[in-house]
Amino acid sequence: MATPAERMVAEQLVPHGVTDERVLNAMRSIPREEFLSGSARRHAYEDRALAIDCGQTISQPLVVALMTQAVNLQPDDSALEVGTGSGYQAAVLARLCRHIVTVELEPALAESAAATLRRLGFDNLEVAVGDGSLGWPELAPYDVILVACAATSLPAALVHQLADGGRLVIPIQIAGDQPQDLRLYTRHADEVTYRSLFPVLFVPLRTG
Ligand code: SAH
Repeated sequence: MATPAERMVAEQLVPHGVTDERVLNAMRSIPREEFLSGSARRHAYEDRALAIDCGQTISQPLVVALMTQAVNLQPDDSALEVGTGSGYQAAVLARLCRHIVTVELEPALAESAAATLRRLGFDNLEVAVGDGSLGWPELAPYDVILVACAATSLPAALVHQLADGGRLVIPIQIAGDQPQDLRLYTRHADEVTYRSLFPVLFVPLRTG
């Protein structure tokens, strides 16, 4: 019998353009309910974003999968995530690369995500508290940067911390009343280019 995570992959991800087997396997294997609390747990495998603490959200599984697929993580890569939230996206990234640091502005969220990830045995991952729009210079450069909150423009610090050949995915809020444009930036030497992936709705990147 298929597990709820296996059903989620078969019904929500495979039919909607997620083809990377590594991403599909990671999402089959990670218990999403562990990243939720209270009544949200019973909705863990539904095709939508869910509320977590501090007025934030855990992204829809399909969005997690498509963002992860877009950055094409390699086993030797190091990665940075901005916006840890529940820690679920960080767990998916951690399964696919050598090391990841994830930065969260809200100490309470960072603490609870770190506890969940430790309990599940992730040991190639660090949760840091801070303003992720400044990146995390200590461990830069990163082959992959994934921003899980919406910015009005690409933060300069993140570009500086992206390795040559690196990939960065970020929702950009172009107009206040419209969905954000999810963009995949790539860096080659000093040249940074992007393509638009699809419209998304993320909570805003806050500074300070
Ligand atoms: N990736 C998460 C969902 C992120 S929701 C998951 O899988 O559950 C976006 C998160 O970004 C929120 O937790 C919010 O507190 C955080 N955030 C907002 N602005 C931030 C900033 N400047 N630096 C770090 N985190 C930030």
